Amino acid sequence: MNTYDVIIIGGGPAGYSAALYAARNARSVLIIEKLSAGGQMATTGIVENYPGFDDGIDGFDLAEKMQAGAEKFGAETVYDTVEAVDLKAEPKQVKTSESTYYGETIVIATGAHPRELGVANEASYRGRGIAYCATCDGMLYKGKDVVIVGGGNSAVADALFLSKICHSVTLIHRRHELRASRIYEKQLYESNISFIWDSKISEIIADKKVTGIKVKNLLTDEVQEIACDGVFVAIGRVPDTELFKTQLTLDKSGYIIADESTRTNIEGVFAIGDVRTKALRQIVTAASDGAVCTKYIEDYFINKES
Ligand SMILES: Cc1cc2nc3c(=O)[nH]c(=O)nc-3n(C[C@H](O)[C@H](O)[C@H](O)COP(=O)(O)OP(=O)(O)OC[C@H]3O[C@@H](n4cnc5c(N)ncnc54)[C@H](O)[C@@H]3O)c2cc1C
Repeated sequence: MNTYDVIIIGGGPAGYSAALYAARNARSVLIIEKLSAGGQMATTGIVENYPGFDDGIDGFDLAEKMQAGAEKFGAETVYDTVEAVDLKAEPKQVKTSESTYYGETIVIATGAHPRELGVANEASYRGRGIAYCATCDGMLYKGKDVVIVGGGNSAVADALFLSKICHSVTLIHRRHELRASRIYEKQLYESNISFIWDSKISEIIADKKVTGIKVKNLLTDEVQEIACDGVFVAIGRVPDTELFKTQLTLDKSGYIIADESTRTNIEGVFAIGDVRTKALRQIVTAASDGAVCTKYIEDYFINKES
């Protein structure tokens, strides 16, 4: 049985940062990633707030660099989906659809996925008018009419991105003002984006694909119909912690409870990046967690050996 010193579940910026540091500590490191390196970061167009890139850097390119950096020091990547874990076993076990892997320590870096609207038909029309990532799918709606739902930074950044390629962009928000950072204000005022406030989508109108929506005003209950080709949903993220909920302590939103040390309630199990309780979920803080956890991984090995 081949046991790795460190198994990292999830190959986003948190996972590859941990892999780089752990591999440079001469630990045997396996990263298990279900899609491709970079996670949410790889779906980001230009990243302008990761230090060191004065012209910004494409999220996908940054992902490739992070993976190459970790693999240069010996970290291995396996592309597979983790389906079950036993975090208390000795050594700890990680089961994928193809195999079972054994680790002295486990680092959970599974990040988050988009929150859904929760309206009927949403899942059926995913990819046929319903989208969750403007930078990934925006070009499919070039010259078309789209709406975007949300009021935070992601929604506003997506709306601005779409306004450059779509015929029309309408932003729908359930409150009367945006939560987004003020840095976007000037660009928003100069854009041709329309706003529908205090409202939510109550119904998706579709034939073979989305043709429109019904929007309900939450203050008056009035419902209006809007024709559109696409609906971009940007109402937040949900942590990918389903696999761990019976073994690790989660907060009420489903994030793994871990402080700045990244340690969880189980010895030798660490949670890093967007998946853990923290104040700011960004690439730089995910990468920071990855580095920090390796300090506590080393402490864990020292304690175990003494
Ligand atoms: C559209 C968008 C734009 C953004 N723009 C910026 C920005 O400009 N600047 C910035 O700093 N941040 C930005 N962010 C936030 C940033 O991308 C995240 O904070 C960061 O990617 C979190 O990294 P992570 O490694 O914790 O998780 P993730 O990036 O979510 O990576 C988690 C990885 O785990 C994998 N995984 C999940 N479950 C399993 C499983 N069961 N088995 C195997 N693998 C699994 C996933 O496939 C994924 O690759 C943006 C996010 C989005 C969605």
